[in-house]
Amino acid sequence: MRARALILLGAPGAGKGTQARGLAQHFGIAHISTGDILRHAVSARTPLGLAAQREMEAGHLVPDRIVNGLVRERLAQPDAARGFVLDGFPRTLAQARYLDRLLRAQGWGRPLVLNLRTDEDILRKRMTGRRTCPVCGEIYNIYFNPPQNDAMCDRECAKLIHRADDHEEVVGQRLAAYEAQTKPLIEYYSRRKLLHHIDGNGKPESVARELYSFLRDP
Ligand code: AMP
Repeated sequence: MRARALILLGAPGAGKGTQARGLAQHFGIAHISTGDILRHAVSARTPLGLAAQREMEAGHLVPDRIVNGLVRERLAQPDAARGFVLDGFPRTLAQARYLDRLLRAQGWGRPLVLNLRTDEDILRKRMTGRRTCPVCGEIYNIYFNPPQNDAMCDRECAKLIHRADDHEEVVGQRLAAYEAQTKPLIEYYSRRKLLHHIDGNGKPESVARELYSFLRDP
C-alpha cells in the first residue's frame, strides 16, 4: 500500500483502536488515536488533560478546537510522513472539514475512509467488557477475549484498567454523542465517494482480514 491517509470511522466500541493498531503495524504507518493522546494528557495532568478530563469522563466530546490542534501537531511528526491511520478523529462535521483543509495543505491525496458497522448490543459489550493494559496497550474483553488471569495483562506488565468511560452509564452517553455528532460523517464522506463499509461485528481477526483484503485491492 502506498503512503496514504486512512480514516477509521465507527461508533465507540466498533473496534477502531484494535484495528487501527493492527493496520499501523501491518503497513508500517502511524496510528493516531485522539482518545489515546487525550488519555495520556489526562494521566500526565497537563493543561490539555485538565481541559479535556471532565468531558471525557462524562462521555461527551472534547471541543473541536482542542482536538483539531492535537491532530495538526501529531500529523507534523516525522513518522506520519509514511502514512497514517486516524482512529477516533474526525468525530464532528467541523473536525472533518478541518481535516480536509489540513490534508490538502499537507499534500495528501483524498483519504480512504473505512466505516466499521457494528450492531448496538455488540458495541455495548465491547465497551463495558473492555480491559486495557496501561503498559503495553494490549486490549482484552471479558466477554470476547478474556485475559488468562482476571485482572492482569497476559504479558504480566500490569493490572488491567477498566476505563472510567467504559462503565455502563457513560457508555450510553458516548453512544448518544456518536448518533448526534459523528454519524452525519457517514453521509459527508459518502457524498464525496470516499467511504467504504466494513462489517465490524465479527472477531477482530476476521474484521482485520476484511480490512486487509480491501486495502490490497480497494
Ligand atoms: P476514544 O478512545 O476514541 O473512544 O475516545 C475517548 C474519549 O475521548 C471520547 O469519548 C471523547 O471524550 C474524547 N475524544 C476522542 N477523540 C475525540 C474527537 N475526535 N473529538 C472530540 N472528543 C474526542
